[in-house]
Amino acid sequence: MPRVLCAGHVNWDVTLRVDRLPQPDGESAVRNTRQGGGGSAANVAVGLVGLDCAATLVGSIGDDEHGLLARRDLERADVDLAGVVTADGVTTTKYLLVDDKGQVAVLGSAGVNEALGPDDVDPALVETADHVHLTAQRPETAARIAELAVEAGVPVSADPGRRITDRDFSRVIELADVLLCNRIEAEAVGDPAPDQTLVTKLGPDGSRLESADGTYSHPGFDVEAVDTTGAGDAFAAGFIAARLQGDGPERALAVGNACGALAVATEGSKTDCSWELVASLVDERGGF
Ligand code: ADP
Repeated sequence: MPRVLCAGHVNWDVTLRVDRLPQPDGESAVRNTRQGGGGSAANVAVGLVGLDCAATLVGSIGDDEHGLLARRDLERADVDLAGVVTADGVTTTKYLLVDDKGQVAVLGSAGVNEALGPDDVDPALVETADHVHLTAQRPETAARIAELAVEAGVPVSADPGRRITDRDFSRVIELADVLLCNRIEAEAVGDPAPDQTLVTKLGPDGSRLESADGTYSHPGFDVEAVDTTGAGDAFAAGFIAARLQGDGPERALAVGNACGALAVATEGSKTDCSWELVASLVDERGGF
């Protein structure tokens, strides 16, 4: 079973289903609330375990109740927490407001999800992985992990997230074999180097892959959007798992889109991906 090291944010999510996203001076009705583990690196790790990969998480949580809950949630999902440190302070908590159309607005507490510095990373965890996936985190920590991976010959994918435009991820962008971005982030990344693959996530329109071998796209799957949080993380899990089992670019895009669609069709930021559910979309609805 391939082992993927996922490094980046580990959060606690509180999701409030509301009739509409609140406007200034307005009031929205809360239909229900639910809580669970979140954070981009944690979400990808959980998705990968569902797709028959072993996942080791690198990140930081706080020494509070949300930290304990996040840890328990991930242990229950069979994610290896060898690289997760407990820092003094509160676990980063996101309050996600999701309306009836599945649109999301987020309130975030700062918390300690970036407490992990470059020197806190255990090189052995990186060097023994079959693949390294980097999500939003301190750029210097991500750069250190990418450097360790490159030195050890471990392939690296990176999805720096929406803060790519205001933080310096240039070293990670330079070292990554595969960059995963949405349309806005892809503009910030620019043209990939000849040996790099750029995967652009296109929301309901699926995804596109550009590499020296050519450009491929997959239109995605038509599902009713319930909650779009975590769609990009589920996509990453599907894409990476497919590549690790030897799938070509077209099928990897289809599997990524299937996992993204599963995330959108279900509540919460973590997605229970499985090959059975992926097959129900990719093989039964015509993958590519
Ligand atoms: P991010 O969440 O990182 O901004 P996207 O919004 O593009 O990225 O979503 C990631 C992936 O999830 C898409 O590439 C697509 O496969 C899937 N996805 C997103 N929104 C929808 C939707 N409304 N219907 C079906 N699939 C979707």
